[in-house]
Amino acid sequence: MQQALLSGGLVLSSRMERMRGWGMSHGADMYATRPTTVEQAQRILERAHEEGVKITLRGSGQSYGDASIGQDRVLLDLTRMRRVLAWDPINGVIDVEPGVRIVDLWHYTLEDGWWPPVVSGTMRTSLGGGLGVNIHGKNSFKYGTLGDHVLEIDVLTGDGRLLTCSPSQHRDIFYAVIGSGGVLGVITRIRLQMKRVYSGEVLVETFSTRSIQEMIDVMEAHLDQDYLVGWVDALAPGFQLGRGTLHVARNLQEGEDKRPHHTLKLSYQELPEVFLGFVPKSMLWMGLWMFLHRPGMRLVNTAKFHADRREASRPPYRQSHAGFNFLLDYVPGWQKSYQPGGLIQYQTFVPKAAARQVFEQQILLSQKAGIPPFLAVLKKHLPDPFLMSYNVDGYSFALDYPVRERNQRRLHRLAHEMTEIVIQHGGRFYFAKDGILTENEFKRSFPADRLRQLRSLKSQLDPSGILTSDMADRIGLLKE
Ligand SMILES: Cc1cc2nc3c(=O)[nH]c(=O)nc-3n(C[C@H](O)[C@H](O)[C@H](O)COP(=O)(O)OP(=O)(O)OC[C@H]3O[C@@H](n4cnc5c(N)ncnc54)[C@H](O)[C@@H]3O)c2cc1C
Repeated sequence: MQQALLSGGLVLSSRMERMRGWGMSHGADMYATRPTTVEQAQRILERAHEEGVKITLRGSGQSYGDASIGQDRVLLDLTRMRRVLAWDPINGVIDVEPGVRIVDLWHYTLEDGWWPPVVSGTMRTSLGGGLGVNIHGKNSFKYGTLGDHVLEIDVLTGDGRLLTCSPSQHRDIFYAVIGSGGVLGVITRIRLQMKRVYSGEVLVETFSTRSIQEMIDVMEAHLDQDYLVGWVDALAPGFQLGRGTLHVARNLQEGEDKRPHHTLKLSYQELPEVFLGFVPKSMLWMGLWMFLHRPGMRLVNTAKFHADRREASRPPYRQSHAGFNFLLDYVPGWQKSYQPGGLIQYQTFVPKAAARQVFEQQILLSQKAGIPPFLAVLKKHLPDPFLMSYNVDGYSFALDYPVRERNQRRLHRLAHEMTEIVIQHGGRFYFAKDGILTENEFKRSFPADRLRQLRSLKSQLDPSGILTSDMADRIGLLKE
């Protein structure tokens, strides 16, 4: 089948390429194709539809697990469709192709006073891939998901039709395609409402917290702010369990920044090229690698906790939008420090009433299994109107675990144990991060009527079932 597609001359490369999830613990050999126009993408889909060839969509490949890879499949890589199609700097409305990344977006609009309404922790996420899973940011509790700010999308269906969808046109498709993990159609154009900003800086306040409950309480007391993000020291034992740091930030009001033309400049936002004045940031991951074991990470976490405590005693300070939002991009390629096994991120979304209990249990179980997460991040969320929503009225906890040959089985056992607790408390999981959930677990965590609706749309939009991924297969997303 794949050969037939290749011989049709539509797949631009007949070479198998090894593609990996961002966490490097999942990989697949794929036939890569990289269209530059909607018409090319359309021809590939039409041909695949006729031949029944399976395709997996991919943006920047920043999903941790296997959401944008598919073994022996054709890869439809959208990164070369990366043009800004229209920009209205008066109203902040932008039309882009799906390969445009968050960094391209703010580089285009910030000097006009507009920032993306929702950004992920990395600015490398593409808009198509970001909508494929419907990303959230540190402002999720107030601004929702990226999809909540989309005015219109063009969707190329699995059989090659091009549909314009919005909250009022093909409404069911609009709310289903966004967040469905690329199995219903290819988003080929996005019209997005950007957010007005009057400064290139946000005002940040730091709180040192002794437990997850205290962090949640401080978050609840700051719902008038724009951003809330908590770091938890998941290696701290016993009475220090759940200690951490909360960063609370808000956009500046008009007039608060006395030199907006300066702070809105791109040069003001750039992350520094060197660390401590002399270490090139491209080398930092090697330094991190030296600490990637339990004693090393305990040291790093303890040092961070105490440094943050000192910061918390200081008055609020200003930080650039890029500096505040993309902390993880300070160390490019930091996932390489987890080589050779890579890492998994286990992020769960739990209703408010159960969040503290579930997240504390996750830390305790991890410590008991001898695999404490090296990074743990707490965020607050709102429900959203999308069919495949992972959101709940509550909190999420994202835990990074190293994958090593010797801990792999233990890690999977631990994840399944934690998953049972999340399911019991009505929690959800997130396509962008998952690489472990089984079909049985996924189906017990997600409303059956929504899965039926997804399958019904799938049969209308992709009748030959060509769009899939390793993740969709693993969790039986499209199976009865
Ligand atoms: C360091 C780091 C920090 C992160 N922080 C956050 C965060 O704060 N919040 C958050 O929500 N996520 C976060 N993520 C996850 C990341 O934002 C998502 O995985 C996002 O989907 C990545 O975008 P991408 O362009 O790389 O998409 P890919 O990973 O390539 O694809 C994602 C999904 O979308 C589908 N897809 C791709 N293109 C299209 C298209 N044009 N049409 C339809 N479907 C498509 C793919 O098949 C796949 O299922 C983070 C990731 C990293 C590495």
